[in-house]
Amino acid sequence: MVIGDFSGRSRPDACPGALQVHAAADGGLARVRVPGGRLTASQLRELADAASACGSGVIELTSRANAQVRGLGGEGGFAARMAGAGLLPSATHERIRNILASPLTGCDTRSLLDVSPLVSELDLRLCGTPALAGLPGRFLFALDDGRGDVAWLDPDAGILPVGPGQAALILAGADSGLRVPVGSAVAALLAAAEAFLAEPEVAQARAWRIRELPGCAERVAERVGSALELGRAAPVPTPSTETPAETSAEAPAEALAGREPVGIIEQPGGRVTLGVTVPLGRLTSAQAELLADLASSGEVRLTPWRGVVLPGLTRAEAARAAALLTDAELVVDPASPWTSVTACTGRPGCAKSLADVRADATLAITSFPRTGTLPVHWAGCERRCGRPKGRVADVVATATGYRVDLDGRSLDCVGIEETTAAVTALRGET
Ligand code: SF4
Repeated sequence: MVIGDFSGRSRPDACPGALQVHAAADGGLARVRVPGGRLTASQLRELADAASACGSGVIELTSRANAQVRGLGGEGGFAARMAGAGLLPSATHERIRNILASPLTGCDTRSLLDVSPLVSELDLRLCGTPALAGLPGRFLFALDDGRGDVAWLDPDAGILPVGPGQAALILAGADSGLRVPVGSAVAALLAAAEAFLAEPEVAQARAWRIRELPGCAERVAERVGSALELGRAAPVPTPSTETPAETSAEAPAEALAGREPVGIIEQPGGRVTLGVTVPLGRLTSAQAELLADLASSGEVRLTPWRGVVLPGLTRAEAARAAALLTDAELVVDPASPWTSVTACTGRPGCAKSLADVRADATLAITSFPRTGTLPVHWAGCERRCGRPKGRVADVVATATGYRVDLDGRSLDCVGIEETTAAVTALRGET
């Protein structure tokens, strides 16, 4: 039987965890799941301290709003510290706690539903269901608060509120047409995960995601709909993944490359949330400690765009935080070029890489500033790990330099200045 593009697979996924450390080219790599991206300030402090004491001193933010630390030695200790901080509540289920949530949920008027309680409930029930320990570590849940910022990030199972007390069940990144009472949302997501696990190819480790199996989303929907006696409606169309050419004018607090909140966002009641871009998703321990110190509400939220939001600040706190974070080389200006540039790990962390793409991307931004807004993704090889969805200018390392790909056109370049000029030329931005 042909299984999508994955018919040759017969192994479990190898996603790292805090316990299952991956041997990367630059040492051990541990990934800490952060359901909904929610951390307390003290948890972030502990993560920062453990990253310095046990690893490279840098926290990498992932596109699932998780955190990872590289350069770990073989002596252990990192996982124990994460467990002590409450960041490793289940040894058996740690790698499956991949739960996205709208980062601004409950913070502004665009939340149709504050999904924070659902994040906690889903995490608790997920870890409390022994059979679900068998889910692949690639399986992704998403709890969207109605603004549509995480529902379309290709979750295997998610919810999107569509009316009072009712949510669309998202399967394999699209609306299944099933409608779930909000009170049954977690039950529906768990039922979807169980239905996926019942597929024979999943038991054989030949499939890690619902979309990999032809017809699987429909079979899962059938099982969930029957089990919970759910109604159906016309599916919400999946939005185009094309990023509008220029969106900064229409949404100044939401930068490009998705819907990353950057800058000051008004909350009801006079408080504000501060959205922070973390250049290339790399947070030093010192920057993390500063964020923890500035989180006066005690809460820090990681975003799927490898950034951070600090909710519940007064205006004065937000102004002070913005100044201090800027001094610490974090970004609170939605017009900053850092908001639209991403990069894979590259050298020295990835043995497959042909270049130190993070250093080159940094050089490109700092030495050859550009004015355009289309997302740019730098990758050390053709796999293009971490590439954002949608229309993106790809800068891919080659044996002789970089190749820039956009809209089916390619330009081979030597040197960063030439590469930057090629990005500008292909994007049509001057
Ligand atoms: S895109 Fe290639 S070089 Fe970059 S992290 Fe992935 S495998 Fe490594």
